[in-house]
Formats: sequence, structure tokens, C-alpha cells
Amino acid sequence: MLIAQTEQSSPVQAINAHRKKSYFCPSCREQVTLKRGSRMVAHFAHRPNSSCQPFSESESQAHLTGKWQLADYFGEGNVELEPYIKTLAQRPDLLLKRDGRKMAVEYQCSPISVGKLQQRSQGYNSYGMEVVWILGENYLQKITSVRHAEKWLQYSYKLGWYIIFWQTHQPCLIIWHHLTVDGAGFLQGWAKTSTGNQSVKRPQSTVKSLKKQLQRQVQMGLHYKIPKWLKMQQFCYEHHSLLQAMPQVCYQFTDAEPLICGSPIIWAALMTVLLMEKPVSSLIRQLDLEKWAAKISTHFEGSQLIQCTTQELVNSWGRQLRRYVDLLEQQGILKAFDEKSWQLVALPR
Ligand SMILES: [Zn+2]
Repeated sequence: MLIAQTEQSSPVQAINAHRKKSYFCPSCREQVTLKRGSRMVAHFAHRPNSSCQPFSESESQAHLTGKWQLADYFGEGNVELEPYIKTLAQRPDLLLKRDGRKMAVEYQCSPISVGKLQQRSQGYNSYGMEVVWILGENYLQKITSVRHAEKWLQYSYKLGWYIIFWQTHQPCLIIWHHLTVDGAGFLQGWAKTSTGNQSVKRPQSTVKSLKKQLQRQVQMGLHYKIPKWLKMQQFCYEHHSLLQAMPQVCYQFTDAEPLICGSPIIWAALMTVLLMEKPVSSLIRQLDLEKWAAKISTHFEGSQLIQCTTQELVNSWGRQLRRYVDLLEQQGILKAFDEKSWQLVALPR
């Protein structure tokens, strides 16, 4: 922690502390040790074996550095460093005050479980406080697929799906925004920094290599009788199709919403299996699409998008179905009939 208290409970920053005085944890009131040297960020630490809850995680130098830099970035008058919220027994890294609202900022450098993350977020929410998670730069390399990103993904109208990072070695915010999922299940989108650089996170594979890769995955899955693939194949049989006979159009289903862990192409393939049961010229309604998506959902592991509201999830599914329909329209398979129904004009090949 960067701030401890004197015997009289007044807050003191580690950089201004005196070596000969005693300081105490604002939460548990145990005496803490001042750690200050030329090679480290000045901070206070609990003694070994301390059972203090809100301050129990040992803090890395990167975490301490980032916290200082973030406080500086947001501006001294707008933030409170490490405020201890007694009723919650929680202590956000920063408390941001903006337009009369208070927002907890957590700077996360170490791994954290979905359960613990959810618990901490809910704590703040129950206190009527929003929370923003900012990830350490070590996460930049680690987050490549939906599985790594699911618990951090947030949605806004302006940024689409996004994740925020703070980089310490050249201090700046990095925002990955308008994130979508490529055919193989990897994240792609845009990255911008608070210093103004814009770059692109590119898709990892081309349609051709993707096709090869997925066909091999299906082949191996069936050969080694992996339950997930056997179940999918069973589903295809029941609907007069085969996993190996996935129509070409499915391989173009990318830029998907991060709703499932895995390839959106397989999702599109199972949707298409159901579509192909319809005779040409039948009318496909929005409701049909929703039913199909619900029906095939048991074959996919849904993402744990714990930073989003139920409404945001519903909207995301809406966009996913819309994107699927758009692709079929572009390929001349569906033709818009009215706003919520389409005519099947040709079967996908
Ligand atoms: Zn303590």
C-alpha cells in the first residue's frame, strides 16, 4: 500500500513517511513496515503472516508504480489513492471523482479468478459505485482469445467491446476497442493510447488457413471420439447434414460478438445446418433464428461476460444474429422480406 496511518489515524504517503515513526494499516490497524529504497517504489507492507483482508495481496513493483502513475494521470484533485471503504471492507486502488459521481478504479496486474472478480465488482455495485478495471501491461500479451478476455470485456456504444490497460514503462493508457472475434476465436480490433497512437489488432489467420485448421480439428475430434465433436456430429446427423460438409459461406463468419469461447465459424455452421432444412423460398423469421441459436447453444461454452448487464448481452446476441443474416444476404442466400423476416432464395453451398 502507498498510504498508511499515524497513531492518530492521519493518512501518510510512503514517500513522505519518517523511518523512525510507527505507521498502521487503515483497515486492520496492525503496524506496517515502511519499504523505501532507490530501487523500489516507496510503500508500506504488512508483517509476514498478517491476516489483513483488503491489503493481503502482496503488491508487485509494477502494481505500485502503476497506481502512482494512474493517480497522476487522472489528476490529484480528481482521485483518492487507496481509500478504505469500511462498510465494504474493500479498498480500491483509486477512487475517481467525476461529475459528482464516484468510481472505483482497480489496477490489476496479477491473475484473478472470475469468482473473486465478480465478488469485488458486486461489492462496489451494492455500494452504488461503478468500478473500472485497468489491466497491467503484462496482460497485453496474455489476452488473445475470448477465453482470456471474457471476464474483462466491457461494452459501450462508443467503444464497442473494449478492455483498458495501463502501461508503466512509457506511462499511458491503452484501450483496445471495437473488439470482435475472428474465425478462429481470436480477438481483433483497434488499439489506441492516451498519447494518441492508433493501431490495429489484426486477425490471426486467413480464410484459407482457417478452413484447413478447422477441418483438421473436426477430423481429429471425430477420430479420437472427443465428446464435444461427437455430439455436434450427432446433431448434424439428426438434421441431415455432416460436420465435414460445412458450407463454404460459414468460413466467412468472422467479426463475431465475443459470446462463445471457440470458433464462431462452427457456430455459423450449426445455424446453417438448421437453415438448410428449410425448402427454398420459405420465409425465415427473426424468431426462427432466435430459436435456432437457443437450440445450438448447448454445443458451445458461453463466455462469462461478467462486466456486462443482461440487456447488453441480449443486444449482443441481436447483433450476432444480424451479422449472420447480413452475411447470408451478401451471399445471395437470403433476401430481406421485411424488417424481421427473410426469404430463403438459394441453399448455402
Ligand atoms: Zn491491514
